[in-house]
Amino acid sequence: MKKILITGAAGFLGSHLCDRFIAEGYFVIGMDNLITGDLKNIEHLFKHKNFEFYHHDVTKFVHVPGDLDYILHFASPASPIDYLKIPIQTLKVGSLGTHNLLGLARVKKARILIASTSEIYGDPLVHPQTEDYYGNVNTIGPRGVYDEAKRFQESITMAYHTFHGVETRIVRIFNTYGPRMRLNDGRVIPAFIGQALRGEDLTIFGDGSQTRSFCYVTDQVEGIFRLLHSDYEQPVNIGNPNEITIKDFAEEIIKLTGTNQKVVYHPLPINDPMQRQPDTTRAKNILGWEAKVSREEGMKLTYEYFKSLSSEELLKEEH
Ligand code: NAD
Ligand code: UDP
Repeated sequence: MKKILITGAAGFLGSHLCDRFIAEGYFVIGMDNLITGDLKNIEHLFKHKNFEFYHHDVTKFVHVPGDLDYILHFASPASPIDYLKIPIQTLKVGSLGTHNLLGLARVKKARILIASTSEIYGDPLVHPQTEDYYGNVNTIGPRGVYDEAKRFQESITMAYHTFHGVETRIVRIFNTYGPRMRLNDGRVIPAFIGQALRGEDLTIFGDGSQTRSFCYVTDQVEGIFRLLHSDYEQPVNIGNPNEITIKDFAEEIIKLTGTNQKVVYHPLPINDPMQRQPDTTRAKNILGWEAKVSREEGMKLTYEYFKSLSSEELLKEEH
């Protein structure tokens, strides 16, 4: 039986990856310090004989007993309000955490896949974004703590591949959504749905002309699964190329939820990228992958999930 370590296991993507690898017959070790994650996302796995959970901060030395075949490094705050609240931890998990996990991969002779992001392209001057675009990031801007941690993460991963022969994979994840996102993590989908469910106006930042391209979680997990098992060491974009402005997206959510609320405009956060759309040619050619779930279908499933939360969870404030 193959053994895989998944960091960030109690988070949104990490928990879906745990489910997928358990379903594929792997032994899964989930690791998380719960800084932005929630054990609720994986509690259904606690009784599974092929699942173990380690409560651990990966910026500290990481030890796993016995053999290890694969590592998925997904630990990191991922939403702008999270990484603005805990900027130093964000820098540390992308740098020191990645260093620890690459060291572990080297010792165990395990293959490691790291979760990079479309944010390494910053506010992109090339559209759609291809993997050979170097990006446009403000190193000292508020988002720099996340973007630069992820850029460093890619560099050290490539260095371990080149200089130590570690088998590495790099996925550049574009905005991904679905059940188990945290309602108050500030990302636009939980924000808008939460507002609709609480009967509040939907907050558009800026004039809403900025674009994003939203990928449903099952498509993302499939792309990651294929990349891990491929023999391709260069970065691969995984995302849904269907691009929409935030203003049009707010209208879609108003229709989906049937809310009577309106949209209100707030200032655009500093360095908020104006456009984002993955070029997924590489994923198609190398992995035979493309996004399958339409926004309509994915948003329906996501709305069902948020609707099923208790009113207590819906009203919970984060500090
Ligand atoms: P999330 O916040 O739901 O999950 C991240 C998890 O990592 C949390 O459970 C958190 O507690 C854990 N964590 C953070 N620091 C840790 C540390 N030092 N030690 C151990 N665990 C730690 O976020 P997510 O959306 O699931 O994102 C997962 C990964 O995917 C992140 O690396 C993120 O940068 C990347 N990513 C996500 C998206 C997206 O759209 N969801 C886009 C691009 C990249
Ligand atoms: N956004 C918004 N209202 C909100 C939350 C976000 O208009 O209540 C905008 C945000 O400014 C950005 C887009 O939605 O332009 C996507 O934001 P998110 O935080 O989900 O992802 P990211 O900016 O990291 O792609």
